[in-house]
Amino acid sequence: MKYWSLPAEKTLEQLGANVDRGLSASQVAVRLAEHGPNEYQQAKPESVVSMVLRQLRDVANLILLLAAGLSFALAVREGHGYVEPVVILAVIVMNVVLAVTQERGAERALDALRDLNSPTCLLLRDGARVEVETAEVVPGDVVLLKTGDLVPADARLVEATGLAADESALTGESEPAEKDASALAEADAPIGDRTNMVFSGCLVTAGNGVAVVTATGMATEMGRIAAFLNDAQKIQTPLQRRLARVVHGVSAVAVLAAVALLATGLQQGEEFWAMMLAAVSLAVAAVPETLQLIVTLTLTRGVHNMVERHALIRRLPAVETLGSTSVICSDKTGTLTQNRMSVRRIWVSGEKPLEVGESAPGGRALELLRRLALASNATVEPDGEGGEKIVGDATETAILRLLTAGGETREELEAALPRVGEVPFSSARKMMTSVHELPQGGYLVLTKGAFDRLPFSPASEAERAKRQAAHDAFAHDALRVIALGSRVVEDLPESGNLEELERDLAFEGIVGLIDPPRPEAAEAIALARRAGVRTVMITGDHAATAGAIARQIGLIGPGGTVVTGRQLAGMSDEELVENVRAYSVYARVSPEDKIRIVEAWQEQGEVVAMTGDGVNDAPALKAADVGVAMGVGGTEVAKAAADMVLTDDNFATIVSAVREGRNVFSNIKRTVYFLLACNLSEILIMLGAQIVGWGTPLTPVMLLLINVLGDGIPGLNLARDRSDERIMARRPIGRNESFFSGITRAIAQQTVAFAVVGLLAFWLGTFAWLPGGEGPSLAAGQTMCFLVVALTSVLHVFTVRSRGSVFRRTVRDNLPLVWSAVGVVVAFSALVLVEPVGAIFGLAPIGPFSWACALGLSVVPTLVAEVFKLWDNRHETWLYRRRLVHHENRGEE
Ligand code: ADP
Ligand code: MG
Repeated sequence: MKYWSLPAEKTLEQLGANVDRGLSASQVAVRLAEHGPNEYQQAKPESVVSMVLRQLRDVANLILLLAAGLSFALAVREGHGYVEPVVILAVIVMNVVLAVTQERGAERALDALRDLNSPTCLLLRDGARVEVETAEVVPGDVVLLKTGDLVPADARLVEATGLAADESALTGESEPAEKDASALAEADAPIGDRTNMVFSGCLVTAGNGVAVVTATGMATEMGRIAAFLNDAQKIQTPLQRRLARVVHGVSAVAVLAAVALLATGLQQGEEFWAMMLAAVSLAVAAVPETLQLIVTLTLTRGVHNMVERHALIRRLPAVETLGSTSVICSDKTGTLTQNRMSVRRIWVSGEKPLEVGESAPGGRALELLRRLALASNATVEPDGEGGEKIVGDATETAILRLLTAGGETREELEAALPRVGEVPFSSARKMMTSVHELPQGGYLVLTKGAFDRLPFSPASEAERAKRQAAHDAFAHDALRVIALGSRVVEDLPESGNLEELERDLAFEGIVGLIDPPRPEAAEAIALARRAGVRTVMITGDHAATAGAIARQIGLIGPGGTVVTGRQLAGMSDEELVENVRAYSVYARVSPEDKIRIVEAWQEQGEVVAMTGDGVNDAPALKAADVGVAMGVGGTEVAKAAADMVLTDDNFATIVSAVREGRNVFSNIKRTVYFLLACNLSEILIMLGAQIVGWGTPLTPVMLLLINVLGDGIPGLNLARDRSDERIMARRPIGRNESFFSGITRAIAQQTVAFAVVGLLAFWLGTFAWLPGGEGPSLAAGQTMCFLVVALTSVLHVFTVRSRGSVFRRTVRDNLPLVWSAVGVVVAFSALVLVEPVGAIFGLAPIGPFSWACALGLSVVPTLVAEVFKLWDNRHETWLYRRRLVHHENRGEE
């Protein structure tokens, strides 16, 4: 149906809709069944078969396949059973199964996240306004649209005031399209000319309106091109890509080592095929199969933890960027403060300021309150439980709450003075106007907003000074000030532009609202500061109000400066960049200023997180390294532009997300440390033994057992680890900080320690007579080497967990890790102890003295690590203390 060529009433009739009541619940159910949910179809998910094939093409698995083939050929030739090829194949199967299930798990987690992020819209149903998820919208629904909303479906406008929508995704037109409910378009008009329609997925950039839904889901204009829009996230982040490079680097080393092993072996006259197999298994041992898997897991875990802390990640790379964040630019109202406003003080010219509490005042103060309420858009709605609640902007609900406490309602006031027009509030204008018809003819213009922005008519010097003094006294007490001006006119402007009425206003009075800081804000700011993260407050409020709040939460000291939007406008970009470090509080700014502030910090090399809630904040959110939108008070426009959405609008949540981002990075670093030390030491053991002519210390099967079970399973649980307090006592992670920074020496030191004990164990078993055993043999040597290499890597998992001593860390904070480690130790000991099973893998029983030697050698690398840590920590604790003292002394940046 071409509803844009029909009058609104016809459209309503055709769709069986009612503008005043909306659809009924039963109608909705029928239509939902008929049209399906209002969603675009997702691209087909990758099939399991293609996922498996993709995994098999992985370097590690290719090498394993080669090994399986070789060992099969060898088994056929020598006829000594098929244990080896079977085990290798089993490992390949396990690798693929693990990778595929984990990857699907990660995908599912991201899908769930998308659902959490799903937008909502305001509908009229059964005569009441209800907020529903966009997916539940059906044709015939009546949608209420306002600035900042996402249009939930294609819809025909019934009413529109100053409505404009960004339709660039559909038309390519970057200027917002102005809408007109009464216009009619040709049946064959292109989308851009259908001015009486709004389209699914577009954003309302100005005004408000009422529209009836004409099409949903794939039937919408956006649905038609949904195939191109598929924003299914690739789960590869920059970090993962960097990691892939590490894996490839190590794989290259592994292949080179394998070639070297083959060459030395052949030179020493070893048999070609056996040597070939040894070389391939060395390559297998050295490739860190599980590294990328663990990293994917760590990232998804991080996202999950953030959700629990009220931070929804919309773009996965944000997890990493958060760890590097060094400046947080935050709104004041609602983020650093509670947004629970209440009117504290009222002043009408000629009277004394009046302190108010819970109950409404009388006299001229009451008159001022009434007029402020008339110029507000907050409404009283049923709360669904028989009671009532006030909904709307926090400033306006505070005014209405005080008025209703005195038993008055806005409806009564509006009945006497019907509203005929409105100039909406915007953060750029900092005021709004409503126009009311007077019973005796003419119109009453009421403008409420920032005291210094209202265009008052000229007054005497003395009067102006009195107003200013009253305002300043309010603002210094951290009160948010709203002023009211009024004017009576005969006619409305012919141009229809009501903004022309905003001049020559008579001063009516001011009210001061209190909005207490969030209790956790001061602590979060201090925590961030210790973590090397600077907090900057940006607000549209007056400089004095902003300064008072900033002092309360410890953002600036008693003499700290507040930069105003006007001062900012007088600064060149270069000046701002140069001085940006000196400013922590910006007041009376407009959303455009936010971009300049973000860019100035970025120019200084900082990684910036910026919060925002309004339509005009979207460009700043995009410019920031991490755009943070408000989940409760934010518009859909802001959320669409953001990387992260706060479900509690709380500043402290950003700081927890930063911590989580650091945790993710440090977990990945731990994993790199853990796996590289294990794999590199295996290369050294294999190569070293061969070069000195001792033979092969570990068979391919043993290497695989160690790598897949011994390292893989505890390693996967490393992803669960949480860092201790100190993670917030370090500087932010550099934008391109290497995974090896600070751990290169530790990796080298542990690799050498592992290799030395592993080789020693092999030598003892193969060549030295140990009391109580059967005498030295290659099998005994391999068994001892197997035990030592397996046990050292299990113990190593605890070493990498913290820069602190393993004995300090409580085991209870990661029980799965502990249990998996215990499980691996028990399983491997059993392999050696239960003879028939061990024989399958080429393991021989060893005597008690050999056991004691193996166990003793296994703990040596852990002790070595402890000694080094002791030394490092003396140094770091000293640095840490110094930073603490340093910050306490500074107090203010
Ligand atoms: P912020 O959200 O950063 O505190 P705003 O841009 O919302 O800043 O508000 C800036 C100024 O605009 C306030 O100091 C107040 O004077 C005025 N103001 C805020 N909300 C309203 C409103 N609903 N109606 C009229 N004026 C308002
Ligand atoms: Mg605001």
